[in-house]
Amino acid sequence: MTNRPVVADTSWTAVTDAGRGILDAVAADPASVLLALDFDGTLAPIVDDPVASTMTQESRNAMSRLDGVLATVAIVTGREVAAVRRMTAVDEQPGLEHLVILGQYGVERYDAATGTLRDPEIPESVRTAKGRLDTLAQQLGREDPRDAGCWVEDKGRAVALHTRRAADPAHALATAVPRVRDIAADLELHCEDGRNIIELKAAVTTKAQAMRELIDEVKPQTVIMCGDDLGDVPALNVVAEWIDAGRPGARVISFSGEQPSMAEYADVVCDQTEGIAAFLGALADRVCIEM
Ligand SMILES: [Mg+2]
Repeated sequence: MTNRPVVADTSWTAVTDAGRGILDAVAADPASVLLALDFDGTLAPIVDDPVASTMTQESRNAMSRLDGVLATVAIVTGREVAAVRRMTAVDEQPGLEHLVILGQYGVERYDAATGTLRDPEIPESVRTAKGRLDTLAQQLGREDPRDAGCWVEDKGRAVALHTRRAADPAHALATAVPRVRDIAADLELHCEDGRNIIELKAAVTTKAQAMRELIDEVKPQTVIMCGDDLGDVPALNVVAEWIDAGRPGARVISFSGEQPSMAEYADVVCDQTEGIAAFLGALADRVCIEM
């Protein structure tokens, strides 16, 4: 993927009428726009170690220009709020003073404008699952060398087994999934798999609920959601319903060859995180011109 030349002008493309109309809709009334953004794979390139993940500077710059101009700019992610606060430097660097972060699929919430944090207690079953996944990761490596290298990420209210660093990531995922599902059933946890990852969490919260919370609260005229992965589909479907009801909106996909089916959910297709940055930049340019 890194060998492919990225041409700035063509790094994002509108593929539906909703996508083709989105810049005009935003320019018509910026203060009524809800912009929701996934983090990993959308604002930050996917890296082997999620702790080392950083947001692209171009996206941060564009979001800073849109901050306080749009009704709400929100990051909606499976990550903990604390991690996203660190990775966006929202509290340290100027520009994102109105950012809303919905972490752990909306269980946690941070409002930069007020400093308010919603952060409920972590269920015991998730702590237990962490120990069992650690044991499973070791077992997988002992049983088959192709599955060696799996590791467990403690996400607070969720816990994830990653196979990206395994000798054969796809094989490791296929081996791990039924066994992680057994652990989920035993502990009555919700189980979700994505790109070389399988995750357990207590509450069956999804990004769809987080999106609905934002829409109810912001009462926008225009809704944009940017995402890259299957975990974003429920939230993208909320936006699809919005568009189907005749209202302006767009589903903006950070597209990579890793998950080709994501193209089906797109009104705007972006060339990975660089394309998202270019789209956000175009949005900011348009809003500034019209103001
Ligand atoms: Mg993502």
